[in-house]
Amino acid sequence: MQPHYSPDISLADRLLRTQKTLAGGAALIGVSKGQPVSVLAEAMRLGLADFGENRVQEAVEKWSDLPHHGVTLHLIGPLQTNKVREAVALFDVIHTLDRPKLADALATEIHRSGKTPRLLIQVNTGEEPQKAGVAPHELPGLLSYSRGLGLNVVGLMCVPPHDQHPAPHFALLAKLAARHGLPELSMGMSGDYETALRLGATMVRVGTALFGPRLTDVSPPNR
Ligand SMILES: *Cc1c(COP(=O)(O)O)cnc(C)c1O
Repeated sequence: MQPHYSPDISLADRLLRTQKTLAGGAALIGVSKGQPVSVLAEAMRLGLADFGENRVQEAVEKWSDLPHHGVTLHLIGPLQTNKVREAVALFDVIHTLDRPKLADALATEIHRSGKTPRLLIQVNTGEEPQKAGVAPHELPGLLSYSRGLGLNVVGLMCVPPHDQHPAPHFALLAKLAARHGLPELSMGMSGDYETALRLGATMVRVGTALFGPRLTDVSPPNR
């Protein structure tokens, strides 16, 4: 996916442009994985209110000592059950619930800590073997299992196959969310967030187009 990044304009202008394109139709999550703390601080100063990270450890290291009152932190990468405690402590929204065992661990930790992150189920719309997420036909089962545990599942998230047109994947995710009464749709990245917006995204996850190339080596989206 092309980065759609304009290095000749400032972060402030890139934020403004992106917000203007979204026109209030979806929340802008600035994906700050692989970006230094100085960039996060500048984006917060400019008023960005939502940030996404894909690794719990990296997020804890960057955000724990950085005041971020009023900021909503989103976990958009895979979550291991042994990282659930740290994830629930740090994140306000977790986009990557994808298996019953993780639902169990989240329910236990939410009960223990009293923290109640909003949860999205990740759907592997392309049914790619290497990608996280439930297959579309597994969604009803995981959803009712999670609801049975009292988990606050508010929406769905997907990362379409990078070698396909994203629109059919976004449309499928929107259809599944509507069918199951889920209001939030986390879909769209730097190269395709306008398409996602058109197909009903309520949150878009934009990294490179806002912050430029990532400085540290992080895994490609959600592998
Ligand atoms: C890295 C990442 C993004 C942002 O990707 P960009 O192409 O840099 O906008 C969005 N979603 C997920 C799950 C990611 O891992």
